[in-house]
Amino acid sequence: MGPGNCSELPGVQHSPGAPPALALPPPPPLLLQPLWDRVRAWDALTGSPFFPVAFSITAYLSFCLPFALLDALGPWAPALRRYKIHPGFRPSARQLLPCVARTLYQHAVLVLPLVGHVVLGLLLFDAEVFAWHVLHHRVPWLYRSFHKVHHQNAAAFALATQYMSAWELFSLGFFDLANVTLLGCHPLTVLVFHLVNIWLSVESHSGYDFPWSTHRLVPFGWYGGVVHHDLHHSRPNCNFAPYFTHWDKMMGTLQSAPL
Ligand SMILES: [Zn+2]
Ligand SMILES: [Zn+2]
Repeated sequence: MGPGNCSELPGVQHSPGAPPALALPPPPPLLLQPLWDRVRAWDALTGSPFFPVAFSITAYLSFCLPFALLDALGPWAPALRRYKIHPGFRPSARQLLPCVARTLYQHAVLVLPLVGHVVLGLLLFDAEVFAWHVLHHRVPWLYRSFHKVHHQNAAAFALATQYMSAWELFSLGFFDLANVTLLGCHPLTVLVFHLVNIWLSVESHSGYDFPWSTHRLVPFGWYGGVVHHDLHHSRPNCNFAPYFTHWDKMMGTLQSAPL
């Protein structure tokens, strides 16, 4: 087929009077195409950050299930053990449960894009607020003009969380929004990140140190939380990071509350 024919082909195909000999035959129907079309129609599902994780974990557990059933039924049906490499071995519940628990935990904490993005967003927010906070304490004009109002309450309480100047509120809101944009978060992740961020800021001003407070749940003293930020309100030269402890540790401004 020459170049002249190629340039005419689209017109020929869409014209009702086109010679049928030039029209390309429709491709043969693909067996699984209808299934794929249905999957693609579930945009909300496949576009969700949960989807890749849910898909891989469902596939993994589904592939494990027949072998787990073979192991479970082995004592009652010796024929099923015919092909087993170690015929006398059957994993116990104490061996099986930690495997399932570890798989679920690792998918939830390490693999799940939502959790990863939220934690990454919090770490970025923590670094940005730390720098902003130090600057607004170290420069007297900035402290007097913008941050002093937040320090009117030496002992914090929940509603004092956003008792701050418009500039401080704008700055924190900007960091909050910039991080989810920078990370390219899914809308669901953006929502969860905002909720977690608001909760953690309220918790750190709540004035309550419960056994289930976040700083008691995060290991190795990585998270300062309510105790550290409450100390910042009473001793403003320490604990500038809003959540985590690494920045204050590195800059020598970390102080722990007396027990
Ligand atoms: Zn505060
Ligand atoms: Zn401060």
